[in-house]
Amino acid sequence: MPRKETFIEVILPVPVDHGFTYRVDETTTGIIDAGKVVAGQRVLAPFGSRMLIGVVRRVGVDKPDYDTKTVRQIIDGIPCLSGPLIKLLEWSSQYYFHPLGDVFKQFMPHKDIKLEANKYYRLSRHDIDYSMFSGKEKDVLNYLVNRKFVSQNTLTKRFSQGVLNKLTKNGILEIVFRASEQMPDQTVDSTADADDSNGMKTFESDLTLTSEQKNVVDLLITDLQTRAFQTALVMGVTGSGKTEIYMRVIAKAIEQGENAIVLVPEIALTPQLINRFTDRFGKIIGVIHSKIKPSMLKKTYKDILQDKIRIIIGVRSAIFAPINNVGVIVVDEEHEHTYKQEDRFRYHARDVAIMRGKLEQALVILGSATPSLESYYNATTEKYKFYKLEHRIHDLPMPEIHIIDLKQEHPHRIGNEILTKPVVEALSETFSKNKQAIIMLNRRGYSSSLICGDCGHAEKCPECDIPLTHHKSLQKLVCHYCGYSTPVFSKCPACGSSKIKSMGIGTQRLEEEIKKIFSNIKFIRMDKDTTGTSGSHEKFIDMFGTGDVLMLLGTQMVAKGLDFPDVDLVCLPLLDIGLNVPDFRSTERIFNIIMQSAGRAGRAESGAKVFIQTYNPDYYPVKYAVEYSTELFYKTELAYRKELSYPPFSRIALVIFKHKNLTALQHAMEKVARGLPNGSDTTIEGVSVSGPVPAPMTKAKGFYVYHVLLKSSKTNSLIDVLHRFSNKFKKLIPDIKFIIDMDPQHFV
Ligand code: ADP
Ligand code: ZN
Ligand code: ZN
Repeated sequence: MPRKETFIEVILPVPVDHGFTYRVDETTTGIIDAGKVVAGQRVLAPFGSRMLIGVVRRVGVDKPDYDTKTVRQIIDGIPCLSGPLIKLLEWSSQYYFHPLGDVFKQFMPHKDIKLEANKYYRLSRHDIDYSMFSGKEKDVLNYLVNRKFVSQNTLTKRFSQGVLNKLTKNGILEIVFRASEQMPDQTVDSTADADDSNGMKTFESDLTLTSEQKNVVDLLITDLQTRAFQTALVMGVTGSGKTEIYMRVIAKAIEQGENAIVLVPEIALTPQLINRFTDRFGKIIGVIHSKIKPSMLKKTYKDILQDKIRIIIGVRSAIFAPINNVGVIVVDEEHEHTYKQEDRFRYHARDVAIMRGKLEQALVILGSATPSLESYYNATTEKYKFYKLEHRIHDLPMPEIHIIDLKQEHPHRIGNEILTKPVVEALSETFSKNKQAIIMLNRRGYSSSLICGDCGHAEKCPECDIPLTHHKSLQKLVCHYCGYSTPVFSKCPACGSSKIKSMGIGTQRLEEEIKKIFSNIKFIRMDKDTTGTSGSHEKFIDMFGTGDVLMLLGTQMVAKGLDFPDVDLVCLPLLDIGLNVPDFRSTERIFNIIMQSAGRAGRAESGAKVFIQTYNPDYYPVKYAVEYSTELFYKTELAYRKELSYPPFSRIALVIFKHKNLTALQHAMEKVARGLPNGSDTTIEGVSVSGPVPAPMTKAKGFYVYHVLLKSSKTNSLIDVLHRFSNKFKKLIPDIKFIIDMDPQHFV
């Protein structure tokens, strides 16, 4: 007798781009529902001498002409990855050039989680002609008509299995398998749903929305109710109450029976946002980030899969969470570069969020006071909805921003100190009022740029208009986008001064200086070195929140999202550190950091101040930020990006070559250059190719690094050319590792 068998494609956690074909037959254990296997279920499959956990990608593939192994076990009773999520993982693997098996491996639920399936019944349609049915059958139908799903257990307590079987056979009832410990039998009525036995309330809040907030909430809820894919940019000044808006829209989605994902740039820096969400939504919140204990994370995943968790708050990886039926996705502070993963699987969570929204037919909300140029452009060209909030809650004014020109201020400087006199005076005043101050260094120093100590000039590439990088070994300044180079100069090309120096100051030096000037003030320093251990961010933030500590000193991270009413002074002691980074986005980041620091001050009272010390007070991102001319900045920056065809007018991909041995790498790079159609700097099918050039930080973690940069306005051409290159390079330089970074956020 021929065996009953099905062939399926399984994705296994091995670094390849394809699935594997397996057989499912009666020797396979764990099959429920008459031998049905469905996409998204996990299976135990023999692979070589091992047993691996894989995910079913397709069912009913052709029987291959080679011998096929049989799946040992179907692990889950129901799919643990939904259809849209599988598609999302596939898309991400292709777009970001990361092996499919590896992508699945990272986001597949933990092996100890097992989804037992329970049998549920529901009506297949509601236009039933009752006269066709017997009394007992009518009782069943009446019971089901106001309920979404009812478990077999519940039903058989009231009705006989025989009646259920008959109605199922007639196609009136439908059987669904759902995770066992999930929501109890659900009713259709949405408010009753929210009041269900999970102790959910209706998420009321006693805040009265401002008219601006209400307007935006109404618009977003209208978008949500179309249940179609839509992206909306909410551009609201800091303190305009965006979090409240997210919560209202999410509450609506939950009421509609849909789930939500909220992405935040970094968990440790957003305790306040998480608290607000937990206060409002309680147990249906699940938090995902890298510092959560594995046992806790496992529980969270299990709760997600069993529909107990309806809202996920997390960092970028949460965008791949196995939650079903997503109705809304929020990306808070969407401009933040931490949404891009910088190693291994180099995905951008904001962009993945938009793709997930498309696949789930969901509403995607991007929120920021200073959106990325990409999102702003999409909003102004009506690809996204564009909603603005121009006022702070209670109409508080934005703080005044004072610029201190370090070229002019020399007479005011106290010796060789970092802080100038006006800043020291402002700090004293703040402390005397018992108010708080934040001092912030933007990014850690990037010391490979040279600047003039008298006029602030830093030499730029004539072609790409980005600062040149100082390569000490070569005695040259190099443009690392296009390879242009010029000898190091000893006199400033702008003013003739010979005070040429490397850029950068550290938090430590600043700390010592502050200790000297304000010996009796309690302050904390917060940077990578002091916040290494898990939980210390929260500790510092809590300490600052008590008001006992009067000053917070730290790197850029301290600026993110903090909401403290008593901060009335924020100071950026050396803005120029961030200006001379070889990156076309540095102007955007400069504008950002000024606006964000202003956002930390004066959140409860007027009269707050921001001080910026810089050599470049007239540079347009600085000028526009000081005047709060946001629209002008975006318009200017877009014009400039267009002229040089940088994103959003093109897409960029970076090919990163690495090797421990410089000679071997250089030798390989010559081969690569010769392998390009016209040598380096060429255009292939609308894709411009530059390089190979040494990376700005030529040696990183023991590896020498070279880059090839590709740029095109046509995404498909870019991906085609990358695929061809990738195949070619693999053959040409088999022993050199290279990585493709799509839409890179950093070039260092
Ligand atoms: P944003 O995210 O836009 O910077 P937040 O959401 O942090 O702003 O809101 C700023 C502050 O205003 C928070 O303390 C918040 O609780 C409060 N807030 C928000 N909406 C209202 C409102 N309608 N009435 C009063 N206070 C509000
Ligand atoms: Zn100069
Ligand atoms: Zn250049």
